[in-house]
Parts: sequence; structure tokens; C-alpha cells
Amino acid sequence: MSVLVVGSVALDSIETPFGRAEEVLGGSATYFSAAASHLTTVSMVGVVGEDYPMQKLEALASRGVDMAGVQTARGSSFRWRGRYQHDLNTAHTLETHLGVFSHFKPQIPGQFRRSPFVFLANIDPRLQLSVLAQVERPRLVACDTMNFWIESRRPELLELLGHVDLMTLNDAEARQLTEESNIVKAARWIMDRGPARVIIKKGEHGAFMFTRDTIFFAPAFPLESVFDPTGAGDSFAGGFMGHLARTGDLSDDNLRRAVIYGSTMGSFAVERFSIERLLELDQATIDARVREFQQLVAFDAPMAAVGEPT
Ligand code: AMP
Repeated sequence: MSVLVVGSVALDSIETPFGRAEEVLGGSATYFSAAASHLTTVSMVGVVGEDYPMQKLEALASRGVDMAGVQTARGSSFRWRGRYQHDLNTAHTLETHLGVFSHFKPQIPGQFRRSPFVFLANIDPRLQLSVLAQVERPRLVACDTMNFWIESRRPELLELLGHVDLMTLNDAEARQLTEESNIVKAARWIMDRGPARVIIKKGEHGAFMFTRDTIFFAPAFPLESVFDPTGAGDSFAGGFMGHLARTGDLSDDNLRRAVIYGSTMGSFAVERFSIERLLELDQATIDARVREFQQLVAFDAPMAAVGEPT
């Protein structure tokens, strides 16, 4: 089955303690598609300006990403400039230039409207809502967001929550959205407003998936060097949704596996700038890292109860 993504298609300029990159391929839909395309077919919706280096998006098209929903509009492309200091979990936004995104009206091509899996990647919540109005009863709709939209479009974001099955966001965003400092309470606050599941990502400290009755935790892959954390969240979402769309199985066990695929794709994204590492991956490399994840958390059960001799 296929997954439909709407989100930003950007030119990113990034500084990390390890180097800098100017105007490289970025955006939430771009990272998502690069990751998910290893697992399933992806339909992408977004907008670029006339100044966008379209030939660079060819790398995604040749991975089978259907770009019929990526419009070129008059004006300049979305640009984001960010900096990471030694705490690589926190991105400092230096500049957000919406460009063609300020007048964008997503048009979902007819052939995409029946996509069973829909991911509303980080973008203006009004655009996320307008996509939902154009699709036909998907099996699963998930959304993401970030501080920029929590500050500037809070009412629309809260409205969106009433229409999605799952939300992914990082711990700082969850605290900002809910005004709860405890992430278990923050997850409950979000679920009270609609989504049956919430995934709260904690960067190098892993990710929690909450339902009303269960909590699942996956560590982040312990990489020796994280080069550029940009796109980790979107690549996580691509791995997560890609696995669900590939298997078509929405059981709790399979959603847990999807979290591991999400963590796997997020861990690859941060090894290089932009989507470079995601583009060079092959199936065997992905499978090997999934197996390493299994090893990371496997232990023999049962454990002796406290007080019993071991
Ligand atoms: P993340 O996975 O959270 O690291 O997302 C990184 C991507 O988000 C970058 O490639 C940026 O181009 C994109 N981005 C940054 N700010 C925004 C925004 N306000 N709306 C949509 N996308 C954004």
C-alpha cells in the first residue's frame, strides 16, 4: 500500500559543530519521502519556487517517489537556516523564509486521494487540514508539527488534533503544545483531544509510543558520531509510516515494529548532511540495523524476583 505525504520541500542551510551546508535539499516531506521510499511507494505533495534545483529531486523520483503533487509556483522556495551546538537534540532556528508556502493551496491529484496512509508532515496546520478535506477515509492519518506552528497557528493545530489518529512530535514540542512538563501527562493531554496514539521523540534518548493503556519505548541507535540531526524526526516518520503501509497491519505489535523502523531510518538520516545517507541505503543495510536494534534491547526472561537467589 502507498503513503501520501504533504509537507515542506526546502533549501536548508545548516551549521553543526562538525561542519556547515548551504542550501541543501531539505524539508519535512523530502526527508519523509527519502526514508519511506525504502519501504513502500510514496506520493508527495508540496510546493517549490522557480529557484528550486529540481534536478536534485530527481534522486527521489528515481527511488519511485511520485511527485505529481509537487507544484512549482512563482516566487522563492521555502528556506530554513538552523544551527546545532553541542547539544545536538536542540535545533536553533536562525531563519524561516516561507516563500511560496505563504500562498500554497495543496491540490491532491485524483490518483492520490484514496491513499490508505496519510502523513501530514511539519507544515502550516491550515494546509494539513486542507489536505484532509481532499482525501477519502484513509486507514491511518498521522501528523507532525514544530514550535513555529505551535506559536503561530495554535487554534488550527488543536482543530487538526480532532482529525488525526496519531501525532508525532519531540519532547520540547510536546511540552510547549500542552504546557505540561511531564511527558506522560503531555501525551494524555494530546490523546484527550483526538489521536488514539502519540509518539514523543527524545532525540538521542529514544522515543515513546503512548496509547490510553500502553507505553512502548525504543532507544535511539547509539551512533558513535551524529553529524547533522536535521531531518531525524521526519525520517523517523518515514520509517514508521513506510513500515505500516508496506505491511498494512495496524496491530499493536506491528505498530511497535514500526517504531523500530522509524528509529532505524532516523539513525541513518543523521549520519550525513541532507538526505545523502538515506539515498545511498540498500535493503541489506536497513535490515542489519533493525537486527542490531533487536540485539540492543534483547535479554533473557524471566528475571529473578527481588529477594530470590539468582
Ligand atoms: P526535523 O525532522 O524536525 O529535524 O525537520 C527538519 C526539516 O524541517 C528541515 O529540513 C527544514 O527545512 C524543515 N522545517 C524547518 N522549519 C519548518 C517549518 N516552520 N515548517 C515546515 N518545515 C520546516
